[in-house]
Amino acid sequence: MNMDWEVVIGLEVHAQLNTATKIFCGCPTAFGAEPNSHTCPVCLAMPGTLPVLNAAAVDKAIALGLAIGAELNRHSIFARKNYFYPDLPKGYQISQYELPVVGKGTLTVQLPDGGEKVVGVTRAHLEEDAGKSLHEAFIGQSGIDLNRAGTPLLEIVSEPDMRSPAEAVAYLKKLHTLVRYLDICDGNMQEGSFRCDANVSLRRPDAPYGTRAEIKNLNSFRFLEKAIEYEIVRQRDILESGGRIVQETRLYDANRDETRSMRGKEEANDYRYFPDPDLLPLVLDEARIERVRATLPELPDAKRIRFMRQYALPVYDAGVLTAGRTLADYYEQVAVGVDGKLAANWVMGDLLGALNKAGVELEDCPVSAGKLRLLVQRIEDQTISGKIAKDIFEELFHRGGEVDAIIDSRGLRQITDVAAISAMVDAIVTAHPQQAADFRAGKDKLLGFFVGQVMKASQGKANPDQVNAILLERLQKG
Ligand SMILES: [Zn+2]
Repeated sequence: MNMDWEVVIGLEVHAQLNTATKIFCGCPTAFGAEPNSHTCPVCLAMPGTLPVLNAAAVDKAIALGLAIGAELNRHSIFARKNYFYPDLPKGYQISQYELPVVGKGTLTVQLPDGGEKVVGVTRAHLEEDAGKSLHEAFIGQSGIDLNRAGTPLLEIVSEPDMRSPAEAVAYLKKLHTLVRYLDICDGNMQEGSFRCDANVSLRRPDAPYGTRAEIKNLNSFRFLEKAIEYEIVRQRDILESGGRIVQETRLYDANRDETRSMRGKEEANDYRYFPDPDLLPLVLDEARIERVRATLPELPDAKRIRFMRQYALPVYDAGVLTAGRTLADYYEQVAVGVDGKLAANWVMGDLLGALNKAGVELEDCPVSAGKLRLLVQRIEDQTISGKIAKDIFEELFHRGGEVDAIIDSRGLRQITDVAAISAMVDAIVTAHPQQAADFRAGKDKLLGFFVGQVMKASQGKANPDQVNAILLERLQKG
């Protein structure tokens, strides 16, 4: 029995906004402090305290809304979402329910096969994060750390527009790139500042949506992909054996690569939402929206298209180089006055490879963009060969120094003197009479052997194009 099922995926992303202080009080939001040191009567929910909305959090929500071409609601409402949990001191979370600050928008996503897809964004709303329960440090008890309680979150909810794990990952990656471009969220998935819930269901093509399961707190792109893949198989097995999917919340266990039921899914009315009487409606005026618009940077799509045009890059290179603003800026500094594709090869190949191998972030890269640009210039002006340049790059990366000083002190200057190269060619051809005769008899492949011998004799410094040309001439002459 071969039944076709279509998977339907929607994502809810929680992005921690990188404001200096919390959303309703002045406590710092910095990660990793001593438990409960970043707290005050407001975020500890002491009776009689009142929340005061952080304007910077609102501006960051506006920036996201503008970047995805969304409707910005001029009038939105904070609501109380009531539930009990030990890390939620008020007994409710301040969120937005019926009227979120950001309404419908779209995100254009680049798919792995090179295509694009427009994914609908239903809404994005402001809310406060909860604290954390600590289980490791205590035996038989749990501790509560409320440093995170009141940290501003933007919850970005997509339409159920994705049809494969790969599309879901591509959407999440694009959103991750976007929030970092906008500088509204640091995107640190390990620390939980960018995390995602996935709603997954199956249906027959063109049938109504099936019952969905919600998989909570996926904090890496790979876990998102794995969890959806697992969920597709689980639901398909149930449906094909005549069962029904239960609407529920599930957790992904990365160690066992499976999802497990956590609890039955709550309905919205389980939370008894109502407008928070302590907070005024949030009113946006045009001047404020325009002020935020004026601060928006060049966004990833625009930058990618500009890179393709300005530096004559293929779409793949432009996509890699614009995935982060820091990398894009670095590349543009390398590419000043040199060939754009050559600069891209160095940044994407040697530079990213070395950083990856050393486990170093670009921000801490020991080779400045200026040094890499000079290295590429020295290839272009034929001072050194591309191969020698790789050795110099290794030295710059691991031991530091200056490009020209390394070239001079190690005598790496490329040999472009025709007489000098001809002398080396003569010596090599004379030393290998049999191979020379074989080449003339039609064994063309032997040219590579001779080039290799001459390059070796010159310690890699002879100009390879000249070696090729002079060798060919010499060998054919006999
Ligand atoms: Zn506080």
